[in-house]
Amino acid sequence: MDTVTVEVRDLTRTYGNNAVVRDVNFNLNKGEVLGFLGPNGAGKSTTMKMLTGNLAPTAGTVRICGIDILENPRDAKALIGYLPETPPLYKELTVDEMLALAARMHGVSRGHVARAVAQTKERTGLLEMGGRLCENLSTGYQQRVGIAQAIIHNPMVVVLDEPTRGLDPIQIRDIRALIKELGGEHSVILSTHILPEVEMVCDHVQIIHQGQLVFSGAIDDLRASRKSSSLIVALRRPPGVDVLQALDGVAAAEITADRIRLRLLESGATDSVAEGVVRAAVANDWGLYHVAPDATSLEDVFLHLTQLEETA
Ligand code: ADP
Repeated sequence: MDTVTVEVRDLTRTYGNNAVVRDVNFNLNKGEVLGFLGPNGAGKSTTMKMLTGNLAPTAGTVRICGIDILENPRDAKALIGYLPETPPLYKELTVDEMLALAARMHGVSRGHVARAVAQTKERTGLLEMGGRLCENLSTGYQQRVGIAQAIIHNPMVVVLDEPTRGLDPIQIRDIRALIKELGGEHSVILSTHILPEVEMVCDHVQIIHQGQLVFSGAIDDLRASRKSSSLIVALRRPPGVDVLQALDGVAAAEITADRIRLRLLESGATDSVAEGVVRAAVANDWGLYHVAPDATSLEDVFLHLTQLEETA
């Protein structure tokens, strides 16, 4: 049976009259990597702060492995590692000193600190960096130290707020690989506004927009929802737009240089509409040479989901 590590119910935070996080609900299981995806200002950081007990919710509850973070913050927080938007580093400390301090603050007993520091440095690729001052590290390495301080006590749940922000492409690749690896032993929640990041690293995704979840599910479900809203057709002798739009199940036809996009009345009906297109093309000698569901990008799905909310 899946072990639930994070249980969030009706989580809400308002500032004045403005609900920046509204009725957010979800569960996270052990070993899952959840991407919390949304445009800037959607409410990601606010949610991360509430999940980790760093900001009191206006309403709702957060339980970490069954422990309520408001009722029993000490025990709940001991099960969490958190990388906030800006890595919490004392820049005048060396990496070794910084990690030893983080270990103590997270309750690692004195006798186990040296081993925890060594193991964590190995996991995060910091073995060579122990003696360096944090302030002299590149942004990518500072981010690694930020992740290291979040996992040094081997917590059940790791929460990473925009872990790849400000990194160059090589640093981003390395940090993503590291996060994926963390998923094996911990539950990981990472926030990001970068869709491909979620695709590469996460197995579950939640899309937040204007403080509300507009999608929640497996990455594969998100992928599955993308192919079904239009058909791409190519005809050597196309009829007028009005004829195409009159086909069964077609809402609109858009003709470009060499392709026609048929937007469907009902998403998911690609097979039956395609059949109708083939029949009409043969009967009317349109010279059909291509018909396939439009594999729109996840970017389109994301935009669609977030725009739906705006017009609602
Ligand atoms: P994200 O991390 O998705 O970019 P945030 O959670 O930082 O979004 O912010 C969500 C919204 O809440 C934004 O509109 C932001 O201006 C607002 N907000 C965040 N913190 C405060 C605060 N302390 N007081 C008032 N509004 C805030």
